[in-house]
Amino acid sequence: MDLRAAIRTIPDYPKPGIQFRDITTLLADARAFRQAVDELVQPFAGLKIDKVAGIEARGFILGGAVAHQLSAGFVPLRKKGKLPHKTRSVEYALEYGSDALEVHLDAFVAGERIMLVDDLIATGGTALAAVDLLRQGGAEIVAAAFVVDLPELGGAAKLAAAGVPVSTLVDFSGH
Ligand code: AMP
Repeated sequence: MDLRAAIRTIPDYPKPGIQFRDITTLLADARAFRQAVDELVQPFAGLKIDKVAGIEARGFILGGAVAHQLSAGFVPLRKKGKLPHKTRSVEYALEYGSDALEVHLDAFVAGERIMLVDDLIATGGTALAAVDLLRQGGAEIVAAAFVVDLPELGGAAKLAAAGVPVSTLVDFSGH
């Protein structure tokens, strides 16, 4: 089935000029959800992935399902202050100001092979911060997979330039 048709677009959300690509409609459609997870897994199924890291919050839903399918562990990458144990943190720039992603120090060990999952890649700022965070702990990032790519914003290209094999399922033009 056509995954693109299962994704809803909300114009001018959360601010004017942004076309918000809402995957909740895809998640609610059993066939679309299964197909999306199958397609996220497929290119990397033979890679001996130890863990899947998902970016809060939509990356948890997709990443959890991908981890289950790969028989891998799951590592949540969370916004600042949400994880209860000792964390490593990385700050990254947003359009206005900055944000931080955190991971538990004991969520993985150096040398583990990790696949990164999120719903969408736009500028790549969030995903690059996630790669930085995982590499600081000695992880080998063997893949990054996203349902939606906004290629004009260049994030997937930046991730590839950082040495991460990237797979995306559907692309949309514009922001
Ligand atoms: P970026 O760091 O610019 O690659 O932005 C990626 C993060 O922001 C992802 O976690 C997305 O969920 C969210 N995001 C950015 N742009 C959009 C958009 N147009 N529609 C839906 N989510 C978006």
